[in-house]
Amino acid sequence: LKMLVKNQLLSLKAYEPGKTVEEIKNTYGLKNIVKLASNENPYGCSKKVSEALANFSAEYALYPDGAAGRLRERVAKHVDVDPKALIFGSGLDEVIQIISRSLLTPQSNIVMAAPSFSQYKLHAVIEGAEVREVPTVDGYHDLESMLKRVDPNTKIVWLCNPNNPTGTYVNGTSLKSFLQRVPQDTLVVLDEAYYEYVTASDYPNTLPLLAEYDNLMILRTFSKAYGLAGFRVGYGIGSPDLIQLLEVTRLPFNTNRLGQTAAVAALDDEAFLQHCVRKNKNGLDAFTAFCNKNHLGFYPSQANFIFLKTDQANSLFELLLQKGFIIRPFPNGVRITIGKEEDNRQLLLSLQDIL
Ligand code: PMP
Repeated sequence: LKMLVKNQLLSLKAYEPGKTVEEIKNTYGLKNIVKLASNENPYGCSKKVSEALANFSAEYALYPDGAAGRLRERVAKHVDVDPKALIFGSGLDEVIQIISRSLLTPQSNIVMAAPSFSQYKLHAVIEGAEVREVPTVDGYHDLESMLKRVDPNTKIVWLCNPNNPTGTYVNGTSLKSFLQRVPQDTLVVLDEAYYEYVTASDYPNTLPLLAEYDNLMILRTFSKAYGLAGFRVGYGIGSPDLIQLLEVTRLPFNTNRLGQTAAVAALDDEAFLQHCVRKNKNGLDAFTAFCNKNHLGFYPSQANFIFLKTDQANSLFELLLQKGFIIRPFPNGVRITIGKEEDNRQLLLSLQDIL
């Protein structure tokens, strides 16, 4: 069988989901579990989504609209772009796969930060491309060093803004200076999965940059601030010519009926979104104050999570699990999603106990 699959698959491991909430409850004899491991929205989603789904006509036997027409029109209006400048995916995960499948060959390479979102690397390895990882500096993208790694075979530069798992961001000035110097036949993908949570005033306004750079693509998702991770809807924005090329690789019915309906409804509730963003900011501020007071190392975050630096990541993960909190360990720290106010308070009390 090993002869059957692409060589590069042999060096990879399949995605292994963590323990389920039920499994953790049983293992540790806990009644309540708070999941702060995947940067989901602790407030769920807008009521407008449940209303729209309650009225959903149950035509389950029919395929969804393969062009995601209604969603396309609604998102185009929301971000003020040509509907042809959009590509939809079953989450951004799939948009990242589509871009990688479309652009990468074994002769090509990608440039990305490390640590950053793992799927950029996974798909590059599957396509046989070389992965050039450039270490972050204090959690920030090191754009100058990234630029030095770009060569004529670099098909994609991935910029995760804010970066998962560090929560840091690239500001407008740095981004523009970077874009001016990247070769025109290298695609720069700005993954803005956490865009809605950002409050920093010098965070780049990237949509107008699309008119200047046709080698730029922006990614957004309904999984985070809109609270629709379970529906799997994300989208890319780029030049219509680029989108047309990527469309070849997209599966015909990749976003489903319910997801398309839910996403349209979610865009109609700006008040819910702003409420979540405010709550998140308060949670981040409380977390930051706690870290400063207790001399804990962390990266300043603009997203809905925070990265605590520790060389005891696995034991911290284990100890918090015993107290009912699921967080995400990394080699040099842990990433914790900002939860609801009371859960955050309990989490900080638990951290204080442990430290
Ligand atoms: N990009 C980043 C930076 C992420 O953190 C995530 C979610 N973990 C994704 C993309 C994928 O999100 P989804 O597939 O749910 O849209």
